[in-house]
Amino acid sequence: MPGDLRETHVAKVARDSGPFEQGTRSDRRHQVMDPWALDIFAAMLTMDTFDAKGRKALVRVDLNVPQDAAGHVTDDTRAKAILPTVRKLINDGGSVILMSHLGRPKGRIVASMSLEPVADHLAVLLGMPVQFASDCIGPDARAKAAALKPGEVLLLENLRFHPEEEAGDEAFSKALSELGDVYVNDAFGTAHRAHASTTVIAKFFPEDKLFGYLMQAEIDSVGKVLDDPERPLVAIVGGSKVSSKLAVLENLIAKCDALIIGGGMANTFIKARGGEVGAGLVEEDLLDTARTVMEKATARNVAVHLPIDVVVADAFNASANTDVCAADQVPDEWMALDIGPESIQAFRDVVLDARTILWNGPMGVFEMAPFQQGTIAMARAVAEATDKGAFSLVGGGDSVAAVNQFGLAGRISHVSTGGGAMLEYLEGRVLPGIAAIQGHG
Ligand code: ATP
Repeated sequence: MPGDLRETHVAKVARDSGPFEQGTRSDRRHQVMDPWALDIFAAMLTMDTFDAKGRKALVRVDLNVPQDAAGHVTDDTRAKAILPTVRKLINDGGSVILMSHLGRPKGRIVASMSLEPVADHLAVLLGMPVQFASDCIGPDARAKAAALKPGEVLLLENLRFHPEEEAGDEAFSKALSELGDVYVNDAFGTAHRAHASTTVIAKFFPEDKLFGYLMQAEIDSVGKVLDDPERPLVAIVGGSKVSSKLAVLENLIAKCDALIIGGGMANTFIKARGGEVGAGLVEEDLLDTARTVMEKATARNVAVHLPIDVVVADAFNASANTDVCAADQVPDEWMALDIGPESIQAFRDVVLDARTILWNGPMGVFEMAPFQQGTIAMARAVAEATDKGAFSLVGGGDSVAAVNQFGLAGRISHVSTGGGAMLEYLEGRVLPGIAAIQGHG
């Protein structure tokens, strides 16, 4: 788990042992008197304590970036997110070998999924040349990795051109591992996959493995929310279906003070309470489950906030007729596609009182203009609460897309880079890519 005993202990020892920033890693080991801490420093390097001088860092990153037909990168958010890690390693005097997947080539070489154009884009972002190896293992990768000098960067071809990557093949992991002498995992988006480059490879670096800055930020953020939140902790959960968020809801109920449920999934809860939800999305087979979730929440004194009113439509499209009605009195043939103004006000009040906020899933069909007001309002409320000093974490593909689309990402404490990975993390599961670095994978 993030912020687990070991990490907490490292932080405490670091604090108690005085400022380390100027020393090398071995200096720091001498300064620390606690024998358990010595062991931890050996096992848990961090980007700040690691000195990359003269080292060849093999860095798993997520360069699975959207491209146009000509291969140009159309959204470089993920590429920009790895820059702090790459810069730290080369500024230290290390060399960097980047490895990533791109798309789903399913173990075959697919020219349109080559990472070569991404190397060019990365070179522009870094302001320096980025070499490219035509395969991630084999003679070209080996020769280029071996010739890499301090301060140089090499990107390997798409890992998923080899079926062994997703299979977590040990021999393939070993071949990758031989390219570098320290392993850095900075790919949170694939941390929930036990693939060769994300998990299995770590065993070949028993001491020399660490999280990159991006990965560490994701882990720290979830830790701030789930392990030791400033209270009240408010969780906002939305999106289409209860079924995809059930495990998250169960985990959050054990931790949060208030739970706001919006989006299509709210219909199942409203119907479970005896409300009429018309033609809205409902998971009939989960009505009992929804009741159980609400009962558990009540038993734990967690306030559950469901929509009071909703924006309804007579068809699932942007030009449908719309109206606003009570969330539990939606007429037949109409469907709730957003939360209404009273719900927005009530949800805002809860969010603005929070000291810690977790948001996963939109409040409505925000891709269509008539149904995006609820999601915009929640994004604004989370940003306002953050401005007032609350810690906020937004995770999940669509809620992240929403805060980006509304230009509010800069006012959120942490916007996660991992959709599926974040969801599994919020379920309280141990992610294989994290466990592998922490040494208990
Ligand atoms: P992801 O699962 O990709 O990480 P997410 O967790 O943010 O994203 P999802 O559970 O995938 O969210 O749900 C998002 C989808 O739910 C959006 O496409 C949105 O249009 C849809 N949605 C939201 N509210 C409703 C509603 N009332 N009726 C139908 N669909 C809805």
